Amino acid sequence: MGSGHARVDDIYGTWSGPIKQLCLTFGGAPVQSFTKRNIMSAILENKVCLVTGAGRGIGRAIAIALAQAGGHVAINYNRSEAEANAVKTFIEGAGGKATLYQGNVSDSFNIRGVVEKISGDLGPIAVLINNAGITRDKSFLKMTKEQWDEVIDVNLSSTFDVTQAALPGMLDAGWGRIVNISSIVGLKGNFGQTNYSASKGGLISFTKSLAIETARKGVTVNAVAPGFIETDMTRDIPQKVIDYVNSLTPAGRMGTAEEVASAVAFLASPAASYITGQVISVNGGLYM
Ligand code: NAD
Repeated sequence: MGSGHARVDDIYGTWSGPIKQLCLTFGGAPVQSFTKRNIMSAILENKVCLVTGAGRGIGRAIAIALAQAGGHVAINYNRSEAEANAVKTFIEGAGGKATLYQGNVSDSFNIRGVVEKISGDLGPIAVLINNAGITRDKSFLKMTKEQWDEVIDVNLSSTFDVTQAALPGMLDAGWGRIVNISSIVGLKGNFGQTNYSASKGGLISFTKSLAIETARKGVTVNAVAPGFIETDMTRDIPQKVIDYVNSLTPAGRMGTAEEVASAVAFLASPAASYITGQVISVNGGLYM
């Protein structure tokens, strides 16, 4: 039993109720301590899992968490093959399964073809995580139409394309999990981010509507709304802004990609079968 399991056992003793099982699966071992042994938990039993933009940051952590749960992860990346390859190597080194798929999610024709190729190579996609995202921040009157379109295309329209291509396989199988990575900014707005907040708010409405359409067919659709998470996306935020946000955050710190991935892995699991159309915030209490 891994060290993470030992920690859960410390808390729950010999009791083996469902909450302990959940902790063993998702809270027992931090993503960083991913080992061959805990892959064997196989909650996702070789299910094909597509994570868009999985070469780094939150997508990377989600890919690892899904592989840790036994899934065969299709790692989508756009430009950086080296980063994506490092994620694949990491997963395979720990005994998991991962395959790389280059594709630009904002190119409708291209990304639909990639989804078809994944299904042809690995089998129908059972778990889809729409994670790829960008920012192009500007106060509203200074924002160009190009900056607006770019963010809407990558963050929102891509979800239309990828989901429409992946959903038929889930419906045929009578089982599927879709998790859309939204943002705290999609819930409350933010200065300089009318494009980004519109895309992330749009993802939430998309999630709720699609959840209604698929609920009776075994496919759940949920969103995760991270707060401020330490990744490349937040790397250039000035330290004084980070300090200010941390001072407003009940947890007093930024979150990690792994903390977001834990929520996503739970929603992707069979354990979350009666949760659909929901938005789970992972934000240290910054917005409730
Ligand atoms: P990141 O910049 O590290 O990762 C974004 C990923 O998306 C990268 O791998 C990038 O290559 C990929 N990507 C971008 N454009 C793409 C395209 N056209 N095709 C395919 N892939 C593309 O940032 P992150 O923080 O890991 O962000 C992941 C998701 O989480 C994004 O949707 C982001 O909006 C969301 N999010 C992040 C934070 C945060 O604080 N970091 C907060 C809330 C939501």
